[in-house]
Amino acid sequence: MAEIDIYAALKKFFGFTRFKGLQEEVVKSILNGNNTFVVMPTGGGKSLCYQLPALMQEGTAIVVSPLIALMKNQVDALRALSSEEGIAHVLNSSLNKTEVKKVKSDIENGITKLLYVAPESLTKEEYVNFLQTQKISFMAIDEAHCISEWGHDFRPEYRNLKSIIQRIGNDIPIIGLTATATPKVQEDILKNLNMQDANTFKASFNRPNLYYEIRPKTKNIDSDIIRFVKQNEGKSGIIYCLSRKRVEELAQALQVNGIKAVPYHAGLDGKTRVKHQDMFLMEDVDVVVATIAFGMGIDKPDVRFVIHNDIPKSIESYYQETGRGGRDGGEGHCLAFYSYKDIEKLEKFMSGKPVAEQEIGHALLQEVVAFAETSMSRRKFILHYFGEEFDNETGEGGMMDDNMRHPKKKHEAKDDAKQ
Ligand code: ADP
Ligand code: MG
Repeated sequence: MAEIDIYAALKKFFGFTRFKGLQEEVVKSILNGNNTFVVMPTGGGKSLCYQLPALMQEGTAIVVSPLIALMKNQVDALRALSSEEGIAHVLNSSLNKTEVKKVKSDIENGITKLLYVAPESLTKEEYVNFLQTQKISFMAIDEAHCISEWGHDFRPEYRNLKSIIQRIGNDIPIIGLTATATPKVQEDILKNLNMQDANTFKASFNRPNLYYEIRPKTKNIDSDIIRFVKQNEGKSGIIYCLSRKRVEELAQALQVNGIKAVPYHAGLDGKTRVKHQDMFLMEDVDVVVATIAFGMGIDKPDVRFVIHNDIPKSIESYYQETGRGGRDGGEGHCLAFYSYKDIEKLEKFMSGKPVAEQEIGHALLQEVVAFAETSMSRRKFILHYFGEEFDNETGEGGMMDDNMRHPKKKHEAKDDAKQ
């Protein structure tokens, strides 16, 4: 495939003149028919990596994705780029007979370039039998970390994918994509999909504009948070709390102190949630106090601070949640409050779970403890956790954390953590 064709296709299908990051290399790898593994942070542009080669090739690419809502969004976006409605389809259990027929005939007629399927639909005998007889360009597994118990979103159905792919066609190239950077999860993905030979493309996870800070959590946490927010008046921020009760309580404490804040958690009815989310996006309020239910797919570019009222249960979660700050490249202050008592609480939550899950959960928590209590560069710690080398002297954002800016003597750090 000549280079010029790739750029022409990029322009034609997406209206972009430039690739982002490693996209060009990934697209070429896929067009050459290689198994390909892509690790890029959220927002890195993973969709285009498989959409562009799918649009350029003969046959249909099958895209496995875990969430129906995500698939629908992607299909709508693809249809908006094309005059051909059948260019992308979703195949799932909500379709009636006529709709399934239409999807099948569009695939047979070579109109459909991308077919989105949930993993549980792909196990349906009827679909497997049909897809076996079709020209499939490749198989893309989006959110591939769902395969791994070490990831934050394990889905058992993902475990069957390899055998299904083999039934559909033995030599179909496989493309795995994820934003999960931990080496353990990556190993799991490659092993499960039996694609250790894959061309691997891994983008850096460094977010140089984010400032990382951990403070000891004391009984004064309310006033600590209020003071911080007041010092950042008029800026947008997210405050994450573990429990719904704490979300309500803290949102109220902020409001009482004249801060424009709203609560957000899964216990609120849908209407209220949408309203509060919109108020935050439209800047009617500055702060949203939320459980982790908030943030999936939220893309407010100018979130200036992310506060953790409670330390998250893994470095991965911490990275994802703090990652919602400073998307526009501007300031992003990430402040987490830490107390070992909270770790014990998280351990206790897990005690009812299967032993294997507890062991994983415990190992992940130990990393969080090490991160919170470390006196080394937090950026270096995070990137090392993700298997990435980082040099504070030469790397971007090398001084952007509390430990680098205000180095502490070791015993002080320990005393703090004990409070
Ligand atoms: P990811 O799946 O890695 O989180 P997405 O595929 O959703 O990321 O892409 C994130 C955003 O980047 C989208 O708004 C997309 O349109 C945009 N994008 C992707 N590739 C390019 C590009 N080459 N040029 C400009 N914008 C791009
Ligand atoms: Mg994506």
